[in-house]
Amino acid sequence: MPEKENLLCSKATAEETKYMDRALRPSSLDEFVGQQKLKDNLRVFIEASKGRKEALDHCLFYSPPGLGKTTLSHILAREMGVNIKVTSGPVLAKPGDLAAMLTTELQEGDILFIDEIHRLNAAVEEALYPVMEDFLFFISTGTGPGATTLRLTVPRFTLVGATTRSGLLTGPLRDRFGIVFNLGFYGRPEIVSILERSARILKTEATPEGLAQIADRSRGTPRIANRLLKRVRDFAQVRAGGVITPGVTMEAMDSLEIDKEGLDSLDRRLLLTVAEKFGGGPVGAETLAVAVSEELDTLTDVIEPFLMQSGFLQRTTRGRLLTRKAYLHLGLKAPAQEKFL
Ligand code: ADP
Repeated sequence: MPEKENLLCSKATAEETKYMDRALRPSSLDEFVGQQKLKDNLRVFIEASKGRKEALDHCLFYSPPGLGKTTLSHILAREMGVNIKVTSGPVLAKPGDLAAMLTTELQEGDILFIDEIHRLNAAVEEALYPVMEDFLFFISTGTGPGATTLRLTVPRFTLVGATTRSGLLTGPLRDRFGIVFNLGFYGRPEIVSILERSARILKTEATPEGLAQIADRSRGTPRIANRLLKRVRDFAQVRAGGVITPGVTMEAMDSLEIDKEGLDSLDRRLLLTVAEKFGGGPVGAETLAVAVSEELDTLTDVIEPFLMQSGFLQRTTRGRLLTRKAYLHLGLKAPAQEKFL
C-alpha cells in the first residue's frame, strides 16, 4: 500500500508495478477513456500497418506518470495481435543486454516497451539507432587492429518508448520515432468515467456525487483516481454501509489530509516553502528540491506538473513563482500585484 503521504504521488508503487493494477487496466482502445485524438490516430496507424502486414512504426509516449503510457503499450500489442516485452532504461545497462532482448525474446511485429527511455545510457542508446532504422545490431569484438564488428539482423519489431518529458530525450533518439504522442492530464468527466468503470470492477456501490468528489482530488491522473477510490472504498465499507457518498469521501479525504484541490501535505509544504522561505519566488528548482528534501526529478516530473497545470505554481526563466491562487489557497496574504506575471 502506498504510505498515506504518498497517495497522491503519480509514480507507480512497487505493488502497482508488480501487479500492474491488472484488474483496473483497460485492455482495448474502446475501454481506454479520453485522449480521443490520440486514440483516433492510433486506430488508423494500427489498421494501416495490419493491412500491410508490417510492424507498427516506433512510438514514443510522453506524459507525467500515471496517465496511461504503459496501459496504451499493452493495448497496442493486443490490438496488433502481437507479444509485448517490457523493460526500462535503467535495466538495459549495456548494449549486450539490448542484444539479448532483441535476438532471443522478440519475434517479427512484437512490441518492445522501454519505460523511462530517457534513462538509457549513451552506449545502449547508440546501439539502438541502427536497430530502430534498419533492424541491425552491431557488436564490436576485440580491440585495436584486430577489432571486428559483427552485424546481427533483428526481427522487425516496434519500439514503444515512454518518458515523462520528450525534452529529456536526445534529438537523434527522438527523431527515430515515427509516432510521437503527448498524453495530457484528464478532465473531470473523464476521471469520473474511469472511476465508474473501476467501481463496477471492484463491485463497489457509489453515488455520482461521491465519485465526482474523488475525481476532483485525483489531479487529472487515472492512477491516483483508482488509488483514492480504493481508499475511499475502505472508509465506505467500515463507516457508510459500503456506499461511496460525498460524505464518506470527504471524511476519507480529511483523514488522508487531501484537500479539495487535490493537494496533499507535501504539495502544501512545497507551496508554503516558496511563500515563506523564498518570498514567493522566483526560486530555482534545485534549491527548492533541497528545501523540501525531495529528489529534483521527483519535484520536476511528479509534483510540479500538476501544481503548474492547476495554476498554483508558475515556471519562469528565473525559477518557480507562487501564484495568487496559491496564496489564497494557503490562506496567506498575497504580495502586491507586480509580483505576478
Ligand atoms: P504510466 O505508464 O503513464 O505511468 P499507466 O499506464 O501505468 O501510466 O496507468 C496507471 C493506471 O491508470 C493503469 O493501471 C490504469 O488502470 C489507469 N489508466 C491509465 N490511463 C487510463 C485510461 N485512459 N482509462 C482508464 N484507465 C486508465
